[in-house]
Amino acid sequence: MIFTVAIDGPAAAGKGTISRRLADQFGFAHLDTGLLYRAVGAKVADGAAPEIAAQNLTAADLARTDLRSHAAGQAASKVAVIPEVRNALVTFQREFGRRNGGAVLDGRDIGTVICPDADLKLFVTARPEVRAHRRYLELGGDEALILNEIIERDSRDMSREDAPLRAAEDAVVIDTSDLDIEAAVRLAAEHVTARLKG
Ligand code: C5P
Repeated sequence: MIFTVAIDGPAAAGKGTISRRLADQFGFAHLDTGLLYRAVGAKVADGAAPEIAAQNLTAADLARTDLRSHAAGQAASKVAVIPEVRNALVTFQREFGRRNGGAVLDGRDIGTVICPDADLKLFVTARPEVRAHRRYLELGGDEALILNEIIERDSRDMSREDAPLRAAEDAVVIDTSDLDIEAAVRLAAEHVTARLKG
């Protein structure tokens, strides 16, 4: 069975948690596409050329332990504006989306560019202050600085020319600002169940 769930949205809106939980619940594979860009950003910070880094990503690159930091998120969004980097990652993501048994992909351009024919598209968002507070609880640091970084990163992601962050026209928007994670996952799961039946 091929069944693709595309989940997009800004940083720290809850996409990752919702994606992992949906994948577990429905037995789908999950790809965190942000990790691809984070790994490219880290290799570039180490001195690699962006396009070459993206063309030669390995499992070891994705397993680096320094990819979750605020700095890695910023580095990712800087390499993510480069069309050659994005192009190098398209085929892998598309093939993942069409793997047998179902797949959930989360990122910024999954419903718009990578899997425009996805069976279900969710756009998961939340108010910037709420997202900054969640990142602060998760990673620590200075909450005001985190908010600034999130706003800066969102604006770079939304204003780039190639595959900007935006909701696909046929995406279901889930605002998690006033939802706890259980409620957000339940809502997302209801949409998956409905599409599987339909
Ligand atoms: O989702 P995450 O915070 O890990 O993504 C890091 C950065 O990677 C994003 O801010 C964005 O610039 C880039 N990205 C992207 N397209 C995706 C996933 C992530 O441009 N599909």
